[in-house]
Amino acid sequence: MTRVNPELLEEIRKYGAFDISACFNCGNCTAVCPLAKEDASFPRRLIRCGQVGLEDKIISAVEPWHCYYCGECSQTCPREASPGEYMMALRRYLIARYDITGISKIFYKNSYLQISLAAGLFAALVVLFNRYTGDFGALAAKIEMAFPVYVTLALGGYVLNMYRHIIVKPLGKIALTFKPKHIYETFYHGFTQANFTGCEETDWWRWISHLLVMSGYTLTLLISNLHLLEPLNERYTPFGPVSLLVWYAGLSIIIGGGSMSLRRVFKRRESSKFSHPSDWLFVTMLFLIGLSTLATHFTNVAYGPENPLLAQLYRINIAIETVWIILIVPFTKWIHIFFRPLAIYFQHIKKEAEAGTAFSL
Ligand code: SF4
Ligand code: SF4
Repeated sequence: MTRVNPELLEEIRKYGAFDISACFNCGNCTAVCPLAKEDASFPRRLIRCGQVGLEDKIISAVEPWHCYYCGECSQTCPREASPGEYMMALRRYLIARYDITGISKIFYKNSYLQISLAAGLFAALVVLFNRYTGDFGALAAKIEMAFPVYVTLALGGYVLNMYRHIIVKPLGKIALTFKPKHIYETFYHGFTQANFTGCEETDWWRWISHLLVMSGYTLTLLISNLHLLEPLNERYTPFGPVSLLVWYAGLSIIIGGGSMSLRRVFKRRESSKFSHPSDWLFVTMLFLIGLSTLATHFTNVAYGPENPLLAQLYRINIAIETVWIILIVPFTKWIHIFFRPLAIYFQHIKKEAEAGTAFSL
């Protein structure tokens, strides 16, 4: 039986600015949406589900993860109902619904609490790290080694819950697809974010900025989680393999993240008109990670591991990374990196299940 939640639209509204109640279902957004090729009712179907309170349909939808917020639907909506912003709010709402801890929900509704906690934790860690009298390089190694464990646990909870809502509940069974084409597409979209280029007028700079941030950040994650850098013990050459990785990672995050921030400040494009406080926290933290990583590495390369400034910068760098991993990564849009390709994979499962060819239990 389909459950109706009369409070649903009000609840989703808490996750972003839009006025979808003004929508009179004309279908213009579906006509202009570059991603509406396969599902002719996208994004209108989800707007209707929100209006009439069909919560289960919203929670089991993969479409919000296909949308990269090009804003074409919002620009042409005759009722100024902001369907693009509605999709963005839906993504936040879904993150909160898939989060088994309930912390995302609290943070999205009280972003200033998350910002205050992040600032407080950062200050406390800097003080603690400065008072630490042991081998800080060894402590940093232990902290960095704990990151992947924490992130994997957090991510695992999300993925299982997303799978439960999108596949298990609607289909009534566990279903999977092992077709190489579907697995390839999942990874291809994950790495290239190809849906960006589906828009009428591709916003290349936005696509490049996202790609820079994603590749730079993934590399930073590998550098830190594999503990490739030991700046207090080793002196790196400017063009050694590790340095090249660090320069690329740091500069990509700074250029991509800086460009994303400037777009949000100047709001010239539809896609950057509305920013949730969590978006600002996200880009600011990313920028700081890139900056502190670069500054630490540059100081090591230029002045060597004994330099007292390097000791300070490295402590700040590890403090920023720790705040990022504990308070930002599991509870904000970072999780999009995984949800977008997973949504493509889950859509393939659904289609195969309809065709009766999915592997199922
Ligand atoms: S274009 Fe606007 S009014 Fe028309 S269906 Fe889409 S959101 Fe509703
Ligand atoms: S923002 Fe772009 S991709 Fe998203 S629903 Fe609107 S038109 Fe489609």
